[in-house]
Amino acid sequence: MDTNKSVIYSQFFSKLINDNNEMDDTMTSFLYYLFPRELFIRALSLLDSGDMFIYVLENGNISSSSMNLVPTVCDSDESRSPSSSGNSNNEASNESNTIDSNSIVEELYDIDTELQNRLIVKTHEKDSPPIYVDLKTWFCSCDEFNSYFNLELQKNQSIPIQDTLIRNIDDIQEFSEDKFAQIDAHSLSKQKYVCHEKLMCPHLLAYSILLASSTKTLRYFTLVNQTVLLIRISNMDEWLKLHINIVS
Ligand SMILES: [Zn+2]
Repeated sequence: MDTNKSVIYSQFFSKLINDNNEMDDTMTSFLYYLFPRELFIRALSLLDSGDMFIYVLENGNISSSSMNLVPTVCDSDESRSPSSSGNSNNEASNESNTIDSNSIVEELYDIDTELQNRLIVKTHEKDSPPIYVDLKTWFCSCDEFNSYFNLELQKNQSIPIQDTLIRNIDDIQEFSEDKFAQIDAHSLSKQKYVCHEKLMCPHLLAYSILLASSTKTLRYFTLVNQTVLLIRISNMDEWLKLHINIVS
């Protein structure tokens, strides 16, 4: 669809979950028609799959173990939680994990906290590595993203790729509130948006629904529905190991 600056996608994403903590049918149908290639349904299916893991690197202000799993769809087994190693007070431990998850959800939407985060998606094809997604640079390691990127490279060989894939807004009066597909979000004099109609896969859309939306939407998938796992990493070594293992 046309990139229209008057469309604020992140507002639509933030209304995906209604006040009863359920998926809103009207917004779901609306978003279905807003995106081509059934991208929205494919993104929703990923969000429900239990295959998505968000790794969050702490900024050092919060003390915790070097790698702290917070509750997920897979975490009914208490052995997954490092903080339950005492073998007692599991309820208290779960409660504390829920508080921890809540705090990560809030921090991920706190513009001052700026937590680094990455999405890893487990794949089911044999010998296929996990998929790595970074919203801040609008990158996904999947084949679909790669094929659209190559297509754009070949279509416009005489024009720098950033000129065809990035929309710049230099006039402050024209600034948009939209967080979807925005990169370099901290510039005060310029806004940059990726032309997502040319370059998007279901992984980037699913991650945007979580992080370019509202705490309510993120909380729904991580804490209410519990199909997306939040993993807190407080140690840079673990963060680097994650990158080496996934990206290489
Ligand atoms: Zn992808």
